[in-house]
Amino acid sequence: MKLSEMKIGDHAVIKTVGGEGALRQHFLDMGVIPGAKLRLVKLAPLGDPMEFRIHGYELTLRVDDAAKIEAEILEGKGHGHHRGPESADHERDDNHHDHHDHHDHHGHDDPPEKLEHPGLGEGGRFHSKADENPLPEGTVLSFALVGNQNSGKTTLFNQLTGSNQHVGNFPGVTVDRKDGAIKGHPETVVVDLPGIYSMSPYTSEEIVSRNYVIDEKPKAIIDIVDATNVERNLYLSMQLLEMGVPMVIALNMMDEIANNGGSIDINGMEAMLGVPVIPISAAKNQGIEELVDHALHIARYQEKPLRQDFCDENDHGGAVHRALHGISHLIADHAEKAGLPLRFAVTKLIEGDPLIEKALDLDQNEKEMIEHVIIQMENERGLDRSAAIADMRFSFIDKVCRATVRKPHESKEQIRSSRIDSVLTGKYTAIPCFILIMGLVFWLTFSVIGAWLQGLMEGAVEWLTVAADAGLTAINVNEVLHKLIIDGIFAGVGTVLSFLPIIVTLFFFLSMLEDSGYIARVAFFMDKLLRKLGLSGRSIVPMLIGFGCTVPAVMATRTLPSERDRKMTILLTPFMSCTAKLPIYAFFVDAFFEDKKAIIMVGLYLLGILIGILAALLMKKTLFKGDAAPFVMELPSYRLPGAKNVARLLWEKSKDFLQRAFSVILIATIVVWFLQSFDLKFNLTEDSGSSILALVAGWLAPIMKPAGLGDWRICTSLISGFMAKESVVSTLEILFGGDVSAVLTTASAGALLVFSLLYTPCVAAVAAIRRELGRRWSLAVVLWQCFVAWVAALIAYNLISLF
Ligand code: GDP
Ligand code: MG
Repeated sequence: MKLSEMKIGDHAVIKTVGGEGALRQHFLDMGVIPGAKLRLVKLAPLGDPMEFRIHGYELTLRVDDAAKIEAEILEGKGHGHHRGPESADHERDDNHHDHHDHHDHHGHDDPPEKLEHPGLGEGGRFHSKADENPLPEGTVLSFALVGNQNSGKTTLFNQLTGSNQHVGNFPGVTVDRKDGAIKGHPETVVVDLPGIYSMSPYTSEEIVSRNYVIDEKPKAIIDIVDATNVERNLYLSMQLLEMGVPMVIALNMMDEIANNGGSIDINGMEAMLGVPVIPISAAKNQGIEELVDHALHIARYQEKPLRQDFCDENDHGGAVHRALHGISHLIADHAEKAGLPLRFAVTKLIEGDPLIEKALDLDQNEKEMIEHVIIQMENERGLDRSAAIADMRFSFIDKVCRATVRKPHESKEQIRSSRIDSVLTGKYTAIPCFILIMGLVFWLTFSVIGAWLQGLMEGAVEWLTVAADAGLTAINVNEVLHKLIIDGIFAGVGTVLSFLPIIVTLFFFLSMLEDSGYIARVAFFMDKLLRKLGLSGRSIVPMLIGFGCTVPAVMATRTLPSERDRKMTILLTPFMSCTAKLPIYAFFVDAFFEDKKAIIMVGLYLLGILIGILAALLMKKTLFKGDAAPFVMELPSYRLPGAKNVARLLWEKSKDFLQRAFSVILIATIVVWFLQSFDLKFNLTEDSGSSILALVAGWLAPIMKPAGLGDWRICTSLISGFMAKESVVSTLEILFGGDVSAVLTTASAGALLVFSLLYTPCVAAVAAIRRELGRRWSLAVVLWQCFVAWVAALIAYNLISLF
């Protein structure tokens, strides 16, 4: 039976995993392997994707993808309702076991709330004085912070580094790179790598993380593992161990484990994994000091993991074990030459990783020899190569969990999460709740908090302007300079700065929604709709924010996992009518369409969405062929976002925006001011009709004529709208001497409305797009939007003229 045919509440065991290439590898990496048990939790309200519980976490799969996986329904056998949501967890084989027995067997009964532990990782235990080999004094100790998404990486990074952070980009990709020194240890640097599930080259994040570890050779790895979900998290840890780099495991979220009466035998886990394991709670700042001590120690003394060999010679006749060891002998010299950790190279080679295959530079004969070994392994093991490796890892993890983890039957967080989910992703409640939440966010941002802050900001800018004006007058500054400063810089940058409060407020809510785990749910239930446009569910959020302001919307696309989806989303957000266009609509609707106010307003918004949809379909057919990113995703438990994380994000976003305000935007402001204030002979002009801007607008007028916008004054106001959309109306008022409605026809007014809706985003938005996509794309966006707007205005003009 196919996974897609399961009924809600069914338990099943996976038989075969189809699909191919990277997608299939991703299935396997997420724990969808033959023999794994899962339960269908629910379908998204629109019937697609599906939510499964597997290895103790919620996984989403699209129906199409689920159809590639064969499973067998498990009947009865205590899989009924009374066992609650945990029933399909982490028992990969049928032999049930009692965690309590195991626990007693090991004789460890640490009270769960105790975080410190004696053990393997204590300083000095890994090496003896005789063979210790510390790095020379003064070596910079670089750490890579690696872990699954939502494992608390950002929280830990903030705890480790405090305010010593530096934000940048990984070269070549728009993936944030943050680094900073550990508090009190200036000789260190921690790099926060993107959250990943595996070291397969699947997403750009995974490639970034793995290349960082291979190429930049950090002195040690800090691997953060979510203790409430050890099964899935350790999958990445095992691949990190293969890298042969000194490593500590930070076992995070221990507070939740303790609160729910679960426990983890830390020493047992250390012994099995061969690296120090330190229980911490990043959110509560517990265990961090101990983590730092261990991390510094293993880095300074270069204590490599004691164990990299996780294959079991007794497992299914040892097929995988023999293949792994056989191949590692065959390629040892190649791996050494390529500078690759041997064990890592072997597993990736068996998985068929093309990048590693190339790097190893094997000759034909060797390739064939290895292929024979792999085929032999597949035959003996009865699984294909990728599945066999994934199975080998999960079998080992299973052993570790059985021996060391005592799970609470059902944690409070999980119960809470599934309660919240029954409403927030419920069949009939999901979309109304979503609309309500987004409505609330917008209302609070644009009418309450953001608006109030914006008022303050505008007041401050005005006060500064007046003060500067008075100052300049007092010291008798040259008239041109005076005008440049006041009318150009202060007016222009001031307008743009007044966006800042809105952006900060929006990001505040957004980061609350993201960190709490809600955004992942939104992506889950909106996926089906967006997929029709060639996008995946995650794109909905930036697009919605686009109705508020394009700048934060573009900035919010950073969290999209696929490069293709990110680009497409950025190109579509400007079609969502932002709030700055509202004054234009209000003005013209009042003046021309008094009787059809509501229809026109709603119609404009819908027109934007409609054209956005058409544009998306067009892009799907041309620029961005292929499918939206697969939706094999984790739905994390709902958690309360940490104040520090949120504060830091707001600070970063504001800084980012301000940097742009004072570079690109400042220059654009000055240029427009210059064009507006000077005539062709570069004399200051009071008559706006003789300015260079009017001249440029005059050139544009013939182009705009077919759309009924052939007046140079209209063109001038549209150009000034590039600075900020609000200023279209004020410029028109000035140029027409307050008599716009008498001069324009209804058809021109309609065309102007449509044109303002669709034409180029304002300079702040273009600057944001430029940062994400580069100069060429941002220029293309400006031209493309103007073109679309021109065509739409042309149609609107002629339609209205008909009546
Ligand atoms: P990242 O996606 O790995 O960067 O994870 P974040 O640092 O954003 O954390 C995800 C969520 O888990 C946030 O809501 C955090 O507040 C929460 N969190 C992080 N560490 C802990 C912890 O130790 N205990 C608890 N209870 N929650 C935590
Ligand atoms: Mg994070």
